[in-house]
Amino acid sequence: MSAGTAYERIRRELPETVTIVLAAKWRTPEEVREVIAAGATDIGENYVQEADRMAAALGPEATRVRWHMIGALQTNKITRALRLFDVVQTVDGAELAVALNRRAAAAGSVLPVFIEVNIAGEDNKSGCAPEAEAVAGVLAEISALPHVRAEGLMTMGPAGVAQDVLRKCFRTMRRIYETVRHEAPAGAALQTLSMGMSDSYRMAIDEGATMVRLGSVVFGPRCRS
Ligand SMILES: *Cc1c(COP(=O)(O)O)cnc(C)c1O
Repeated sequence: MSAGTAYERIRRELPETVTIVLAAKWRTPEEVREVIAAGATDIGENYVQEADRMAAALGPEATRVRWHMIGALQTNKITRALRLFDVVQTVDGAELAVALNRRAAAAGSVLPVFIEVNIAGEDNKSGCAPEAEAVAGVLAEISALPHVRAEGLMTMGPAGVAQDVLRKCFRTMRRIYETVRHEAPAGAALQTLSMGMSDSYRMAIDEGATMVRLGSVVFGPRCRS
């Protein structure tokens, strides 16, 4: 099945209220062009350099979709990232937010960001601690910055765990999201819960995801070229 057809099929299956971000890492511009032609609205990239190349290859086509940074963002790439991305989903704390704010101010823009949460508290993963107080703390710091706006929470679930463990993570994430939205003063602006990938998106939506990030289920297995 082509990527365009796979996208259309999944798009039809999922509630309209759920946004699909297509994770384009290691895909060709032709593959991305195909999903945009099939109606894709949001594309995710993990690396600034790759996003740059992709946008250049796509030309005007690139402006038809929103671009999400879904990989770790190095501070020395922020200026380029601001030119490329509509949303940075991987803000793991105030330090990155402050750096983004400074560059966005220079560019005269306001950047939507998501706070990344390390939901299973894994050592090798970035993200805010998986507690509502910690997330509310980062949110409060971001809300003091005029050129970044926290609009969502994002998590990468732990890999290789049993389904019920993953479900519990998603459920905890939903609880943190709801708690922060309703109890933190800056929480009102949160409107997106980004969680779930190819192997877990249905479960994530069951547990309250409003945005899923899909790669292999649409584009096929990944092979680094
Ligand atoms: C690659 C990637 C995805 C999509 O992964 P699949 O398992 O291929 O769907 C989602 N989110 C992030 C942050 C990724 O890097």
